[in-house]
Amino acid sequence: MTSNRELLDRSLKAVWHPCTQMKQHASAVDALPLVPIASGKGVWLYDFDGHRYLDGISSWWVNLFGHCHPRINAALREQLDELEHVILAGFTQRPVVELSERLAVLTGGSLGHCFYASDGASATEIALKMSFHSWQNRGHGKKQEFLCLAGGYHGETVGALAVTDVALFRDAYAPLIRPAGIVATPDARLATAGESALDVARRAAGELAGRLEREHQRIAALIVEPLIQCASGMAMYDPEYLRLARNLCDHYGVHLICDEIAVGCGRSGSFFAHEQAAIRPDFLCLSKGISGGYLPLSIVMTTDAVYADFYDDATSRGFLHSHSYTGNALACRAALATLDIFADEQVIERNRALAEHLGACLQPLASHPQVRHLRQRGMIAAFDVISDDPLFSRRFYSQALANGILLRPIGNTVYLMPPYVISQAEIEFLVERATMTLEAAMRR
Ligand SMILES: *Cc1c(COP(=O)(O)O)cnc(C)c1O
Repeated sequence: MTSNRELLDRSLKAVWHPCTQMKQHASAVDALPLVPIASGKGVWLYDFDGHRYLDGISSWWVNLFGHCHPRINAALREQLDELEHVILAGFTQRPVVELSERLAVLTGGSLGHCFYASDGASATEIALKMSFHSWQNRGHGKKQEFLCLAGGYHGETVGALAVTDVALFRDAYAPLIRPAGIVATPDARLATAGESALDVARRAAGELAGRLEREHQRIAALIVEPLIQCASGMAMYDPEYLRLARNLCDHYGVHLICDEIAVGCGRSGSFFAHEQAAIRPDFLCLSKGISGGYLPLSIVMTTDAVYADFYDDATSRGFLHSHSYTGNALACRAALATLDIFADEQVIERNRALAEHLGACLQPLASHPQVRHLRQRGMIAAFDVISDDPLFSRRFYSQALANGILLRPIGNTVYLMPPYVISQAEIEFLVERATMTLEAAMRR
């Protein structure tokens, strides 16, 4: 029988864990725990020694309907007996066709062409390459640069880091990167006295306008995370920014890329976050939740106009990008099962009630002396903790695990991003334990 101890010892020898300074797992004091997981069910993760943890961050924002969901499991079992994978160049299969059609319908038909990859960073790279190449094909050879928002995150491959403004991830590789231009973030926390979130959005859009006026001839696209900049600490902003950015991009002939890898699939309160601004992007990147948190899958959706820029007799004017697992049938089938759940179970409406309950449970924290900027949009809630402890996030994380919940603060920002199958009672448990954890982490 496997035990926690045995598996974590073997893991620390053989597995190089992501986003981790591995030495911290071995440190004598304040060691970062490594948690072996044996199984999952709904919002719960179980280790080998009988402990369970409530997955308060949806396993890095990917899980929508809990672990081992019966309906997604059944769809995958069925798909396994039909077709696991086939090359997508020159071949096609049912899951990838159905998924492309259904996603196009969800964009009101505005993004009718789906390009496939396996992870979010690749989706970013594809959107950037497609934008650049479409301008080249259209005869706008000078459009070779991109704009991104301060604090934006779009993945960590070398190309994606060019539009990612998170120093910790980017600085070590700076010499390898051809950085994009950074424009002001509409982060509502930047409101000065008397300013509203709307004012901040307008101010940031004003800066974007100046930048585009000066540089639009060189700029292919602006890439944004609609409504919530997740990885830099759940920075939330007013939808007005997206409306203004859309208008400016149209006016100056610049593509708008909406990276909904984290905020798509119902997370923000609508199926796509950009719907809340009533705009349509030129490119939409999806990943994370789209497969229900089951299998690596990413999708870049685009317009007829962009597609037409590549449609030609010349091979070199085509988009020759590929990944080995492009359009994987199992991953697409998991995504179809995920969309079935959205269609059949009124997920967006149910989430509204859950989100409201989550907000009400968190409300007492608004007056906590160490808490600032308690905020929420849909199924993401966050607050900033006043603490000068450089180890706050590690301490909070460890303490949370000891309290039976998985929460992983980003710096001093604590956020809750649970799977949509969480019950009201489980929300109460999560918030109660998060509050206990906060007190313990503050005490040290
Ligand atoms: C997670 C994330 C990515 C990168 O996705 P990976 O699958 O981790 O490469 C890109 N953009 C956003 C907004 C993300 O949250």
